Amino acid sequence: MIRVKALTKEFKNGKQTLTVLKNINLEIEDGDVFGIIGMSGAGKSTLVRCINLLERPTKGIIEIDGVDITRKSRKELLLLRKNIGMIFQNFNLLMQKNVRKNIAFGLEITRLKDFKVTSIPQKDFNRLSYFDKRKIKKEEINRRVDELLELVDLKEKENYYPAKLSGGQRQRVAIARALATKPSVLLCDEATSALDSMTTDSILRLLKKINEETKVTIILITHEMNVVQKICNKVVVLDKAEIAASGVTDEVFNNNSTEIVKRLLGGAE
Ligand code: ADP
Ligand code: MG
Repeated sequence: MIRVKALTKEFKNGKQTLTVLKNINLEIEDGDVFGIIGMSGAGKSTLVRCINLLERPTKGIIEIDGVDITRKSRKELLLLRKNIGMIFQNFNLLMQKNVRKNIAFGLEITRLKDFKVTSIPQKDFNRLSYFDKRKIKKEEINRRVDELLELVDLKEKENYYPAKLSGGQRQRVAIARALATKPSVLLCDEATSALDSMTTDSILRLLKKINEETKVTIILITHEMNVVQKICNKVVVLDKAEIAASGVTDEVFNNNSTEIVKRLLGGAE
């Protein structure tokens, strides 16, 4: 479970301070498909970057399974972050590697020779995903990549380079790569925003299937109402750095009392 408490994030630019997140509180339970929706500039990406500790919060606490990750050293963070997979609007694939190699990359970079795992506390070590705990053999990487190719239905494309794939196929590769180490959380930042509506639906169905089969918690950031309504069981609505509404998806949108919820609903029509 992920708990964000009184999170504030400010960016300083000379003498000016820009408050991008103001006193954010939220709780995401294991297995949730949790939506974060808001207009462009609301602070959504900054919020997930804080959850992933790519940004350090200015104030507040982020707990993952009861551990306050804002107090960890850089080295510990590198390890803890492997428990979180991430996908993006522009896929971020390695263009000079084929599909199989892109997916395997998610495993190869976790080989332990890069990290002295013995120097972190035992309780943190226990939290690391299965694949982080020792050096992975080549055959094991191949077996895992085969499983992932099947999961995202790209077996026939394993030797293709990203340039020859459609947007939906590229996002499937990115999903497989992000899940390679069996993380417990998958962060999706506008993962369907570059896709047409039919492709969006197929990616959402895939994410839902993965959530049901593997129990991975999914955090889905979007500016699109229909995306949240299709797969998120809970949602927070961010508006100008603050939470404007939150709760069970249907309740938040049926009880559309706040101006921003009305605007987001209007925009979807
Ligand atoms: P969203 O993802 O909801 O569109 P972002 O989190 O990307 O919003 O951005 C929220 C605000 O924070 C924007 O005004 C943006 O310009 C600002 N911002 C984001 N990152 C930085 C940064 N590294 N430095 C300064 N301002 C930033
Ligand atoms: Mg964003």
